[in-house]
Amino acid sequence: MTTPTQTTPAQQLDAAEAQADAEIQAIITAAVAAGLSGAAVLAVLAALTGAVSAAAQRGFTVGAQIVLQGAAGRRARMRQLVVEPLPTTVEADVRAVVEDVARRIDSAIAGEPPDTTTAPVTVSPAAVELARFRRRMRILAITKIHQAASSATYSYARWLGLDLEWVTRRDGKACAVCGALNGRRVPSGEKFANPRRPGVPRKLWAGFEGLPPTHPSCRCRVIPRT
Ligand SMILES: [Zn+2]
Repeated sequence: MTTPTQTTPAQQLDAAEAQADAEIQAIITAAVAAGLSGAAVLAVLAALTGAVSAAAQRGFTVGAQIVLQGAAGRRARMRQLVVEPLPTTVEADVRAVVEDVARRIDSAIAGEPPDTTTAPVTVSPAAVELARFRRRMRILAITKIHQAASSATYSYARWLGLDLEWVTRRDGKACAVCGALNGRRVPSGEKFANPRRPGVPRKLWAGFEGLPPTHPSCRCRVIPRT
């Protein structure tokens, strides 16, 4: 008798985040091993794009399973499954970060004095940029995993004619936007609008197009409801 895996979708998304971060940090470490420069960072654009794409694909699979596991025997309402695209593509997002970081590292290196004997223990501006790069790539991977998961849940729910409910992570402290959206429902095929409540900004993060995440590092999800 086989034991079914007992991991929840949240745990699967956590695992996808951890795997993506390990891969991304290894790529960056290898990229700068021979020396930190903008060119060294640009040289791993394709590798980083591949790692984030694979992570997003894992997020998509989790998001699809959220719908399909409870939908046995349910007939599709639409003839074809139409997959909702992400608000912005992995390729464009990774390229924007990598090109920005390459510029920042090059200008940090150009601004560094050739003789550093006067400040032996300070961290160089280029090293600060590298640390920021690692954080930005981690957050980007998390964002794309969750955008892909939402895209899948939304697309499959629309296909099957299921409504969606917004759920925040129970273990996290939700921000004003996510807290206001928690528990809200929309009919099949519709998306979530700005909850427009006191404390919620009128203009939300540009990457929010009606599905989680509402901001980078948001771990909200949508779940199907009949
Ligand atoms: Zn959220």
